[in-house]
Amino acid sequence: MKHGIVWIGATALVLLVVACATAPYTGRSQLLIISQAEENALGLQAFQESVAGAPASTRADWKAMVERVGLRIAAVAERPDFQWEFKLIAENTVNAFCLPGGKVAFYEGIMPVCGDDTGVAVVMGHEVAHALARHGGERVSQSVVAKMGTDVVSKVLGGSDAASQQMIATALGAGAKYGALLPWGRTQESEADQIGLILMAKAGYDPREAPRFWQRMEAKTGTAGRPPEFLSTHPNPETRIQQLEAWMPEALTHYQPR
Ligand SMILES: [Zn+2]
Repeated sequence: MKHGIVWIGATALVLLVVACATAPYTGRSQLLIISQAEENALGLQAFQESVAGAPASTRADWKAMVERVGLRIAAVAERPDFQWEFKLIAENTVNAFCLPGGKVAFYEGIMPVCGDDTGVAVVMGHEVAHALARHGGERVSQSVVAKMGTDVVSKVLGGSDAASQQMIATALGAGAKYGALLPWGRTQESEADQIGLILMAKAGYDPREAPRFWQRMEAKTGTAGRPPEFLSTHPNPETRIQQLEAWMPEALTHYQPR
């Protein structure tokens, strides 16, 4: 028992030391018990395990579109510690994600909904925003904190057992291999929308496309019968569009058409 008390004390100290992070652009306080470098390393590991081996798309036009938009968003993201890579996966899934450290995956199924570069920029901005705002690190932190008492922080983060690996990969948003993305919290989703709008505007894409893109996603839900995975983890479409319109004036101050 004595060891347990010492451990809880040490963990509380760790939390106090590292919990004072704030999200970029919004200034929201965050609980983060891993460093940015650790988070990036976990992101790269998740990419190797769940994305690197996935079949690459043979649609040269779509691949070029994802790469072109990705590089422009990356250029305004100001993250020299990220090793950017943009992969289009040959799978008819309406989904996309960006792992900590800059590894981005789009699935072919989302490309018709995007339609053009600006549509891709809506998704790219949103997903890259999740990584910039360290939402994966927050979710890993929350998962680890939730496991306190039954596991040790260092064991979870350093764990090579399948359960630890799966928990971390899922927490980071690499849902492809495991069949399901954990829903991001509503706060994280709204934050990704807000930051994504600014990123796409800074990269020279008209942010006024964002509400139109989400309307297309909603229309797809109606016809598909069941919500696409990407959409089912995201907030109420009407609320989202209202919020996007509210943030639009600020985003437009960053927008210079190219
Ligand atoms: Zn999201």
